[in-house]
Amino acid sequence: MASGLYPYFRPIESEQGATVMMDGKDVIMMGSNNYLGLTNHPEVKKAAQKAIDQYGTGCAGSRFLNGTLAVHQECEEVLADFMGTEAALVFSTGFMTNQGVIAHLVPREGVLLLDRLDHASIIDAARLSFGKTIKFNHSDMADLEKKLRVQKNKTKLIVVDGVFSMEGDLAPLPDIVHLADKYGADVIVDDAHAVGVIGPGGQGTASHFSVKDRILGTIGTFSKSFASIGGFFAGPEDVVHYLKHHSRALIFSASPPPANMAAVIKAVEIIRREPQRIDRVWELTNYLKKALLAEEFAIGKPESPIIPVYVGDDMTVFRACMMLQEEGVFVNPVISPAVPPHHALIRLSLMSTLTEKQLDYAVEKLVKVGKALGFVGIQPPEGVEVAKPERA
Ligand code: PMP
Repeated sequence: MASGLYPYFRPIESEQGATVMMDGKDVIMMGSNNYLGLTNHPEVKKAAQKAIDQYGTGCAGSRFLNGTLAVHQECEEVLADFMGTEAALVFSTGFMTNQGVIAHLVPREGVLLLDRLDHASIIDAARLSFGKTIKFNHSDMADLEKKLRVQKNKTKLIVVDGVFSMEGDLAPLPDIVHLADKYGADVIVDDAHAVGVIGPGGQGTASHFSVKDRILGTIGTFSKSFASIGGFFAGPEDVVHYLKHHSRALIFSASPPPANMAAVIKAVEIIRREPQRIDRVWELTNYLKKALLAEEFAIGKPESPIIPVYVGDDMTVFRACMMLQEEGVFVNPVISPAVPPHHALIRLSLMSTLTEKQLDYAVEKLVKVGKALGFVGIQPPEGVEVAKPERA
């Protein structure tokens, strides 16, 4: 690619705050998943440092054998309590959680039903499963029903992102659980982008839609609102027990370091103590949506702090990202296969620690770059619904 247009692996020289240091310059961070601004919170950092003092830097083994520390178990208890489930199980990344859960829950004669826009880690998990994988069109309930109807007498598991990670829209969980009940399927929700942000207290999309008791479980990650790295499954005790003894990603890989567990425990404590962080990220989300709509950007139908700005083709997105960085704004480029072909977009994601003034500056620069590259006032791609600014 032409020099100066490659928008990946750009090094950041500071903490992941509302502004970050790049090439020695302050840049407004409009592309982080640090939704509640906790990755650089002094209490979270201190908790992680204390865990290093107590346990050291690594576990030197998997959860199954020598790698379970008291802090892993404490973290699981905290997560089960936060999610309101019987139990929780911690993995080393969110990606591995999907592999370690989904791949093991349907037998050889079973069927996995996945939304076409599910995260790559769900798609890969399905490849590892002995069951058959069937994809349905994005949030298309008629298509899901058509595909469920013909799978009589088979174990069926529907897996969806709670918040779709590139487009920012929510899975229609009430309709999904209705179909699951009708056709005897289980449902798992990957709430990587929802825990800490959506639902009462940040409990996730199933809680938001009041269908928590009708899903089998939730998968979450620590790499977003929970200020760390790792992942978890939250669900019934018997499923957790089964996974503990069958999940290859859990049994055959080292457990996450103690500092990361301590950071999660502290992050959850802060989220519970300071619910205003959740309100704030929503306030900023609605503010930004309104500002982008007023400037006639095509922003689809985001229902979370992820706001996609549709741009069209891949090269324009690359150019836009690098021009915005020059202007002091960091944004992420998203192209196929992360989104369907010709749906290339700038993925904006918000942190509760940003300010309206910073958002105004970012919008001003987006308008400048958008006008120069011709993506202001364009229509969203066919089939993409249009936004209405409100809280999910
Ligand atoms: N699921 C979804 C929906 C995601 O967006 C991501 C990461 N972006 C993951 C799983 C993987 O999580 P992690 O980064 O913790 O591996």
